[in-house]
Amino acid sequence: MAIATINPTTGVTEQTFEPHDAAEIERRIALADAAYRALRLTSFTQRAEWMRAAADLIEQEVDDVARLLTLEMGKPLAQAKGETLKCAKNMRFYADNAEGFLAYEALENPAAVNASRAGARYEPLGVVLAVMPWNYPLWQVVRFAAPALMAGNTGLLKHASNVPQSALYLGSLFERAGFPDGSFATLLIGSAEVEAVLDDWRVKAVTLTGSEPAGRSVASIAGRNIKKAVLELGGSDPFIVMPSADLEKAVATAVTARTQNNGQSCIAAKRFIVHTEIYDAFTRLFTEQMAALVIGDPFDAATQVGPLATKSGRDDLAELVDDARMNGASILTGGTTPDGAGWFYPPTVIADLHDGMRLVLEEAFGPVATLYRADTREEAARIANQTTFGLSSALWTTDADDEQFFVDELDAGAVFINGMTVSYPELPFGGIKDSGYGRELAAAGIREFCNLKTVWKA
Ligand code: NAP
Repeated sequence: MAIATINPTTGVTEQTFEPHDAAEIERRIALADAAYRALRLTSFTQRAEWMRAAADLIEQEVDDVARLLTLEMGKPLAQAKGETLKCAKNMRFYADNAEGFLAYEALENPAAVNASRAGARYEPLGVVLAVMPWNYPLWQVVRFAAPALMAGNTGLLKHASNVPQSALYLGSLFERAGFPDGSFATLLIGSAEVEAVLDDWRVKAVTLTGSEPAGRSVASIAGRNIKKAVLELGGSDPFIVMPSADLEKAVATAVTARTQNNGQSCIAAKRFIVHTEIYDAFTRLFTEQMAALVIGDPFDAATQVGPLATKSGRDDLAELVDDARMNGASILTGGTTPDGAGWFYPPTVIADLHDGMRLVLEEAFGPVATLYRADTREEAARIANQTTFGLSSALWTTDADDEQFFVDELDAGAVFINGMTVSYPELPFGGIKDSGYGRELAAAGIREFCNLKTVWKA
C-alpha cells in the first residue's frame, strides 16, 4: 500500500510520500535509543512540563489538525475536533498522574522476606514500537504516547499508510513541546518493514492497535524476540437491550454507538441483541433513525456520516452485507453501495441472521448494524459471547438482577451499563479473546511498558 493521503470523500490522491529507506530507519532507531537514554534520567516534573506543553500546542492547533484528520480519513469535522481535544485531556491526565502511578511500592513488612527494606519500582523499558490504525489517527497514538513518554520510554510510530500527514504531525508535536529529539519519531514505512524494526535489539517492546491478522503477525514476531507486546485488535461488541430499559434513550444511543466515526470504531456497538418483548419496538425506532442520518461531505456541519476511509474497507463491508443478503437475511435499511465519487456506504440495519452468515462472527467495520432477538437473558448472553472477539459490551436495563447477571456473564474487556462504550483516560481499556491482550489508559496502561524491578536489602 502506498504511503499517501487519499481523500475518501473524493477518491483523489492529495499527496504521496516516499517511504524511509534502510539508512533513515536506522538513523531514527538510533535517535530514539539515544533519546531514551536522556529521557529516563529526566524527572517526572520535567516530563510533565513537556507533556502539558504538547497539550497546549494541540489545543492551539485544533482547527488545522481536525481538518487534517477529516481530509485523510473522512470523519465528520466536529468529531475530528473532539478527538483532538481528547488527546490534550489524556496528555494532562498522565502529566498529573504518572508519578503516582509509578511510585515505589514498599513492602509493609520487609521482615517477612528477611529484609530491612524491600519493594518494587517501575522503570522504563526503552524504545517501544507503536503500530497504529487510521480510524482515530491521533487518539490511538496519544493513548500510547502520553503514558509511554511520561514513564521515560521513547516511541517509534509506524502509522497506517493512509494517514501520513497525521503521523508526521505527531512526530513533530512532542519535539516542539520540548521532549529530546527523537523521543517520538515517525517511521514512514509499510507493514512489511515492521518485522525488521521489531527484530532490532534497541526496540524493546511493541504496541499494536489494528486488525486481528496484523495482531497475529506482530505478536508472533514479538514472541520470537521475547519482547513485550500489547494488542488492541478488532471487536464485534454486543449491545443488549432488556425490557426494563429506557427504550428511547437506548435507541438514540444505539444509533450513535453504531455510526460515530462513520461506523469505524473498534468499540462501536455492532450487534444489537434485543429482548423479544421490546424487539419490534426497538427495531422500528432504530431502523427509522438509522435511515434518517445525514450522509455527506464530512466537512459539512450537517453531515452525520461521512465516507469510509478506504475503498478496500468499503468493499469488505459490502461483501459481508451481500453474504448475509444471499443467505436470507432481511435488510431493513441501507445495504447497497452508492454510485458516485467517494467511498460512502449507507447506515444499514440487518435482521434475521443465522449461523453460517459471515456477519454473525466477523467484524463489520462500517455503519452496519445486525439485530438479534433473544427470548431470555441466557440466550442474550449466549449470542453476545458467540464471536471470537471480546473487546467491550453495552447493556441496557434498570433491573438490578439482570445487571448483575450480564456483568458476570459477558466475555469482554468492559461492560457499560445504560450508556455506550467510551474510552476514558481514567479507566483501563483493552480486550480479551481475539480482541487482544494488555491494557491501555489508567494506571494499568502506563505500567505495561515498565520493568517492575524488585529491590531487596538485607
Ligand atoms: P490494520 O490493517 O491491521 O492496520 C493497522 C496498522 O497495522 C497499520 O499501521 C498497518 O499498516 C499495520 N499492519 C497491517 N498489517 C500488518 C502486518 N501484517 N504486520 C505489521 N503491521 C501491519 O487495521 P486497520 O484496518 O487500519 O484498522 C481497523 C482495525 O483496527 C479494526 O479491526 C478495528 O477494530 C481495529 N481497532 C482496534 C482498536 C482497539 O483499541 N482494540 C482501536 C482501533 C481499531 P499499513 O497501513 O501500512 O497496512
